[in-house]
Amino acid sequence: MEGTDLIVLGLAVALFPFVISLFLAAGPLLWFGLGGALVVAGILTTVFDEADDDPHVPPVNCPDCGSPNDPDAETCGHCGTPIEA
Ligand SMILES: [Zn+2]
Repeated sequence: MEGTDLIVLGLAVALFPFVISLFLAAGPLLWFGLGGALVVAGILTTVFDEADDDPHVPPVNCPDCGSPNDPDAETCGHCGTPIEA
């Protein structure tokens, strides 16, 4: 666990009772809004993640042994054969 995780965890623990009491004091509309916001955020995150990965560069197969290699690699990581760009 990294230090930032501990900070986030500590903040979550410290704010937990406050957040729970806030939720209990609020009506169902807040829950509905919160859930809806999370769903929208999840959809947006998924869409943008896919957009980032979209220009996906396929691996280059080694001409000698056929192992998939990084397109930037000059030689095969498996057998050392030079890979033509
Ligand atoms: Zn190879």
